[in-house]
Amino acid sequence: QKNAGRHGTLWFEPEMFANARRRAETEAHLQRGIEENLFEPHFQPIISFAGGATIGFEALIRINHPEKGVIMPGEFIAIAEETEQIVPAGRQFFAKTLAGFRQISRALHNDALYLAVNLSPVQLTPDMIDFMAEKLDAFGIDPARLTVEITEAVFLEDSDRIRASLQKLRLMGCRLALDDFGTGYSSLSYLSRLQVDVIKIDQSFTRNLTDHDAAVASRSRRLIEGIAAISLNMGCQMVAEGVENAEQARQVHAIGAQYGQGYLYSRPLSLAATIAKLSSG
Ligand code: C2E
Ligand code: CA
Ligand code: CA
Ligand code: CA
Repeated sequence: QKNAGRHGTLWFEPEMFANARRRAETEAHLQRGIEENLFEPHFQPIISFAGGATIGFEALIRINHPEKGVIMPGEFIAIAEETEQIVPAGRQFFAKTLAGFRQISRALHNDALYLAVNLSPVQLTPDMIDFMAEKLDAFGIDPARLTVEITEAVFLEDSDRIRASLQKLRLMGCRLALDDFGTGYSSLSYLSRLQVDVIKIDQSFTRNLTDHDAAVASRSRRLIEGIAAISLNMGCQMVAEGVENAEQARQVHAIGAQYGQGYLYSRPLSLAATIAKLSSG
């Protein structure tokens, strides 16, 4: 096929342009987000399997774009990390999240509720941690109520900056959660290097529990059992992510997760929707 190569090129080029354009657009959305403070937290409850009470909320970032509508993190986080736009965006987002979280705590009359936030490796700077400490103080929120969720990506770059930041968080009394546990590169070795308070079982494990293929379900169950044993040994709490149905909830609880999060309980909701839901019972 003489034309195959040429044909391939013709087919490939528009694709490349499309990607570059999408990327430039995303960077522009982020820039506008930073300038106009368009980052908005959605809150997803984390519940206790024993009794079903909401014990905390995870804040998840969105861009509330005036023309494009809500832009999801899957579309912009990776680019924001690369361009480091996540640094200013993350500061604004944290301040807005605390303001929202304070409203939720008041609406629930619950000072024990905790807040979980996600931090990317580039966000882990002593500067950011100082900023967070200031904001927590300004909003009158005890740092012990804050859980910082990090992924194993944090350890790929084993820097003094990151070590110092995590140390600072600990000294403030914040808790650390290892997000997406088991999906990253060599997660186990990191558990020996860092004291973690919470292990979050990735949603893929939870989902596979009810896979139509019984062998997949069984392997997933045994994997979660293994993680539960590690978690117990390390003195960590275990949160199961992505709980979508009662059977998954039953199983992860039976295996040893104390807490769960997922569409079964609630999708992440805007502050207004969260407050409305809380006040309607
Ligand atoms: P994550 O931290 O693992 O967050 C959980 C994701 O799973 C969220 O997606 C959430 O909406 C979704 N989810 C929750 N329950 C269920 C369920 O039952 N089923 C399914 N299929 N999905 C569920 P979201 O909000 O799109 O966030 C995606 C990712 O973006 C997050 O994954 C996190 O890695 C990142 N992200 C979100 N907010 C921030 C942030 O403020 N800073 C940073 N650095 N990353 C963030
Ligand atoms: Ca998370
Ligand atoms: Ca996760
Ligand atoms: Ca994730």
